[in-house]
Amino acid sequence: MAGIPVIATVRILDANALRNQQARADAALTAELQSAGDELRGINDDASTRADDLTQSRVLQRAILTDDRATLTRFARRHSNTAIYVGTTHVAGKHPAVALSRSVSLVLNGKRVGRVVVAVPLDRPLLRRLYEAARPANGDRLLFVRAGTVVGSGRRIHVAGQTVELADTRYRGALRPIPNAPRTKLLALRPNTAITASVRPYQHRVLYAALGSFGLLVLVGLLFGGPILRTLGDFRRVASQAKTDSLTGLANRWAFDEELALEWRRAERVGDPLGLILLDIDNFKSVNDTYGHQVGDAVLRRVGEVLAGSVRQVDLAARYGGEEFGVIVPETDLGGAIELAERLRSVLAAEQIELPDGGVLSVTASFGAAVKGDLPGGEELIAAADELLYEAKRSGKNRVVPTDVPESPGKKSRPAERRRRSSATHES
Ligand code: GH3
Ligand code: MG
Ligand code: MG
Repeated sequence: MAGIPVIATVRILDANALRNQQARADAALTAELQSAGDELRGINDDASTRADDLTQSRVLQRAILTDDRATLTRFARRHSNTAIYVGTTHVAGKHPAVALSRSVSLVLNGKRVGRVVVAVPLDRPLLRRLYEAARPANGDRLLFVRAGTVVGSGRRIHVAGQTVELADTRYRGALRPIPNAPRTKLLALRPNTAITASVRPYQHRVLYAALGSFGLLVLVGLLFGGPILRTLGDFRRVASQAKTDSLTGLANRWAFDEELALEWRRAERVGDPLGLILLDIDNFKSVNDTYGHQVGDAVLRRVGEVLAGSVRQVDLAARYGGEEFGVIVPETDLGGAIELAERLRSVLAAEQIELPDGGVLSVTASFGAAVKGDLPGGEELIAAADELLYEAKRSGKNRVVPTDVPESPGKKSRPAERRRRSSATHES
């Protein structure tokens, strides 16, 4: 898995490197064409000068005016690549098929009487001269092309964008027109193989760097992966321990308070009802006194199991303290809270807890069930449920007392009193 980004990065870097080298090739080819073009301009100027000089010749002028073909033919033979016209008729000298040519007219009394054309053939010697001027990098080629074929060899070229295919080889190419040589162009080529070869060392470096990083990643994973995961596990364990009651495995008082505050805010926001059940094991002190603390602990654990197994996923059962438990029941009205409390009460009462001596023990609990209603906060909800729980104890235990039971006078101070009692119990 960790290799995927490494491979992707290598590929992207490779593609970038290739694009860079292609851009460099384009720039180099353009520069080579520029130098060759400068050289061609000089050659053009020379041809113009030569044509000018020839037209100044008295012998030539007289021969043209008198249409002296023999003299003109001799003249043309002495000056290579020179064609002579009388009027518009070609009378002497050769005109190479592919050439750049400069022509100068002979005008008498405003009338063109003849013309001298000096041509520079686009041949191998000229190409060699341009090649030397262009000083191309290793492997680059320079060609004259006309109408899709290479001048000289007659091979066809296929151009697609910047790619030129010639004789089954692919090149990066650049073209430049040749002045005074219609339809003829100068083509500079760099083989694609040369471009990819120049990228290869870089690609190798990238690959080695990627493999190195990957190896390092694997090594770090091997060396520190275990400890890191263990530490994370420890964090998770510590975090969950901080919220869990170690005896029953239920949420502890801290988690209960947190959850109640959270559910309170949610109920306020959404307008849902919120129920709370508090329960206290009846006569638990006598369980401890009769069977010992270990049996007492076993009873607490069993009560924890009964609660955890009887509430919904969204409810939260918690050990509130000592032998007192709480259940937060979100989205539940008083009827629902009473129903759940009744169910918990009867399930608990029916539990048979095995004793070490083979006997069984049953316990009951008293319940207070209250709902958020118009109460101002979570603290008040706990106080209300606690009060009802006390009411249940007072009126005979093993029962559920809901909110709507009329309060007896003088009960207001009870929650604080009970909590004090319960914390004193913890310390014992
Ligand atoms: P009531 O029906 O009025 O609730 O009577 P009770 O005996 O259950 O109540 P009381 O508050 O008198 O006694 C609670 C007892 O719970 C006293 C305390 O030792 C015991 N207790 C509290 N925490 C634990 C615990 O973790 N393990 C054991 N075994 N007993 C505990
Ligand atoms: Mg009790
Ligand atoms: Mg108690």
